[in-house]
Amino acid sequence: QAQFPHPSKTRFIAVANQKGGVGKTTTTVNLACAFAEFNEQVLVIDMDPQGNASTALGVAHESGTPSTYDVLEGRLGIDDVKVVSPEFPNLEVVPSSIDLSGAELEVADMPNRNQLMKKAVADYLKVCHQHYDYVLVDCPPSLGLLVLNAMCSVNEVLIPVQAEYYALEGLQQLLHTIGLVQQSYNPYLVISTMLLTMYDRRTLLSKEVFDQVKEHYPEIVLNTTIPRSVKISEAPSFRQSVVTYDPKGAGAIAYEEAALEIAQRSEQVLEHIANRRQGE
Ligand code: ADP
Ligand code: MG
Repeated sequence: QAQFPHPSKTRFIAVANQKGGVGKTTTTVNLACAFAEFNEQVLVIDMDPQGNASTALGVAHESGTPSTYDVLEGRLGIDDVKVVSPEFPNLEVVPSSIDLSGAELEVADMPNRNQLMKKAVADYLKVCHQHYDYVLVDCPPSLGLLVLNAMCSVNEVLIPVQAEYYALEGLQQLLHTIGLVQQSYNPYLVISTMLLTMYDRRTLLSKEVFDQVKEHYPEIVLNTTIPRSVKISEAPSFRQSVVTYDPKGAGAIAYEEAALEIAQRSEQVLEHIANRRQGE
């Protein structure tokens, strides 16, 4: 097993794509668990009112549960609502609940409405006495205020790209939007990673999509792809990640390899972010 390198600074990563069903939540959850398995300290923030990441991580999220909703609206801090995942003691989760679906309207008139999660994360890091290697934010499939808050609270975006015919079209729109976010709200945001999901080795299409994405974005696409796998889709119904549900299977191995590749690129990415901050 290759040495798993710690990043020299916390990596704050939003997992985003305005398309639904491309593997955002699956990727957030399984990467988080793979990192945790490799002894990294991980925090997952569920920013999707559906709460699928909370479910998959085995964390309560019924309406009324202290959650991202309360954090975003300033009633509670992250330290008040975070819970330790039942799978890994070094993996913590800020659950979301359906209540969060009201937040976009409720905060719409606040002057700092885009920066609410950023402030909550900063406030938390001041008091938590905890060093995190990875903070992963699972985004809903939209480009509204919740995603904007997610993108303002991190400095990296990880884009899961489903290996299918229309993948590239959606990608251009997403990159355009991220460009707008960079211009107006978070100039330090970097698109650090793309990950091909639901990759089917037997089809030419999957390979074509990978080759095209690789051609357009050679620096950021991981060489690891995530295979389409029944075990990956089953795991959440057992409130487990695939990493623990089927540890020897292709899905678990792929997410572990993706985690390793992300970790190995840490210093390069952190340097890139630092350069942006110095007004590159
Ligand atoms: P998103 O968060 O982007 O909406 P999800 O991660 O919820 O997407 O994935 C959408 C659906 O596809 C879910 O039912 C999930 O279990 C399934 N899925 C995701 N990745 C895979 C995969 N690699 N193989 C098989 N099914 C997958
Ligand atoms: Mg999701």
